[in-house]
Amino acid sequence: MLDSFRHQGMRKQLVDHLKEKGIKDQNVLGAINTIPRHQFLDTAFVNFAYQDKAFPIGSGQTISQPFTVAFQSQLLDLKPNEKVLEVGTGSGYQAAVLSLLDAEVFTIERQRDLFLKTKEFLPKLGYNCMFIYGDGYKGLPKFAPFDKIIITCGAPFIPEDLLAQLKVGGKMVAPIGDGNTQLMHLIEKISEKENKITTHGNFSFVPMLNDKSNGN
Ligand code: SAH
Repeated sequence: MLDSFRHQGMRKQLVDHLKEKGIKDQNVLGAINTIPRHQFLDTAFVNFAYQDKAFPIGSGQTISQPFTVAFQSQLLDLKPNEKVLEVGTGSGYQAAVLSLLDAEVFTIERQRDLFLKTKEFLPKLGYNCMFIYGDGYKGLPKFAPFDKIIITCGAPFIPEDLLAQLKVGGKMVAPIGDGNTQLMHLIEKISEKENKITTHGNFSFVPMLNDKSNGN
């Protein structure tokens, strides 16, 4: 689908809206201004693509609200060439933002249909990531350690395996909570034994579930 002047205009308005809501990171705003979000949505939702809302993407999952994507990306504080693990590939929109921020992106998805679809789709748009079908709770020990980790589904607790795969000096951004809302956590790994944890307001995510093979 074409990226028309109309789409570009709506995207600019979305960026202005995100600035008004407090997003300051120019690189993050630039990425959102660049990525054609309408191409990540089913045709039924295309006209709403630049509203600041989450939308269904199939398999009972959603593409995160642009503000949430921007907020998490800003908290992650990416530097060029950092190695990032994303839990919850979904539509690939967040992964596209991370790769535009020059990160080396590893992204895990537990829904096979979404994994297959996004693995095909994202490189066609020019965003190259490492796509993995698997359980985000376990992370990716084979590619660890990571400079940054971002969880894009609501985790009931901070997954220990992920923390172990974070570099000392690294940061993890994770919405924690098992109800309808989660509290955004920034976990900074100070040393192998010490983390600094700060919280950054309530958000609403689809739940982080266990490995599909466990029957969830
Ligand atoms: N980052 C995505 C957001 C998708 S919603 C985007 O930009 O579109 C969250 C995603 O997390 C869903 O696709 C869901 O299937 C996935 N998910 C849930 N639990 C998971 C787990 N344990 N491991 C990996 N992915 C998981």
